[in-house]
Amino acid sequence: MTGKPHSKQISAAIIGAGISGLSCATRLQKLGFEVEVYEKSRGVSGRMSTRNGDGWNADHGAQYFTARDPLFIEELNHWIESEAASIWHPRLKVFKQGQWHDSISSEIRYVGTPNMTSPGKFLARNLSIQLNQTINHITYKAGKWSLHSIEAGEIQKQFDWLVLALPAPQVLALTKQIDKAIEILVSDANMQGCWTVIVIPDKNLNIDFDAAFVNNKIISWVSRNNSKANRIGREVWTIHANPQWSQETIELDKDAAAELILDCAKKLGLDFGDPKISIHRWRYASGHINPVSDPILNQDLRLGFCGDWLRGGRVEGAWLSGYELASQIETFQK
Ligand SMILES: Cc1cc2nc3c(=O)[nH]c(=O)nc-3n(C[C@H](O)[C@H](O)[C@H](O)COP(=O)(O)OP(=O)(O)OC[C@H]3O[C@@H](n4cnc5c(N)ncnc54)[C@H](O)[C@@H]3O)c2cc1C
Repeated sequence: MTGKPHSKQISAAIIGAGISGLSCATRLQKLGFEVEVYEKSRGVSGRMSTRNGDGWNADHGAQYFTARDPLFIEELNHWIESEAASIWHPRLKVFKQGQWHDSISSEIRYVGTPNMTSPGKFLARNLSIQLNQTINHITYKAGKWSLHSIEAGEIQKQFDWLVLALPAPQVLALTKQIDKAIEILVSDANMQGCWTVIVIPDKNLNIDFDAAFVNNKIISWVSRNNSKANRIGREVWTIHANPQWSQETIELDKDAAAELILDCAKKLGLDFGDPKISIHRWRYASGHINPVSDPILNQDLRLGFCGDWLRGGRVEGAWLSGYELASQIETFQK
């Protein structure tokens, strides 16, 4: 693909600046579209996120990612060359049947550097992105899309194409009564929540692993953030609760959820002393539909969808779904 502009530039709005939206936006821009991204948060990267505190930071969404597809490997190589990502070699354990075991996994794992938002920031560097814009209404009229945001009201600009790069339930909120087929797909995604506790211990833990998969009713994952490349600041641990338990307790008070998670960690042998903590409730952390063969595109409305939930529920799939959707939009537009 050449990136040659169309004779009259076709415009596209992308809602969501997570890795799928950024992937779609960069590809469309390269293909000659005029692209504008709208994001409700104050920064890009969505669930590839890092929380910063006083003297510490920790990835509290995606912990690492893997790369199998050649297209994604090629992209990842750009991130690595630009120092936005690197390999992570944690000392990895598994807790199962009441005991700790060394992990026998030989998977190669990657992380953003210096934190998980870095690949997203790298993709965003040449894009026009409107932050702090929560799109709450979309309308299609006379071949053009109009958007409305909570913060700015009616957005002046109109667009030829609209891409929704959002978790499934948030897609549903915007497309109800616009696209029946997507309503059906979305309801299959069954996205589940996740409680995350970031723990800043009063002193460093003296344990022989950096990360662990935990098979337990409450906890599913723990990792020491500064075992990843280029992290600065104090020792910080991220604990993810198990998706099923998180979903069942998602409406709990944050402190009550944290207490249950930390009690459980203590029973597993993780004694954080008298730690500082920060807790995050992910309402839509994980979940996906059975793989669909093609990107989801409503050609009549010039409306496209991408996101992890359409391609396996992880970082690599999210990036691929955005890239493939952009290629399909280009093909349709020719
Ligand atoms: C706790 C947790 C742990 C995870 N662990 C891993 C892991 O170890 N490995 C892995 O590969 N994946 C992991 N994942 C999944 C991975 O983070 C996602 O697959 C990927 O980041 C999804 O990208 P996305 O672009 O599809 O969606 P998102 O990152 O969710 O992006 C959607 C964006 O849309 C924005 N938005 C939402 N609604 C609106 C609106 N109305 N208007 C404007 N903007 C809006 C959001 O703010 C967000 O930035 C994890 C996720 C979580 C939450």
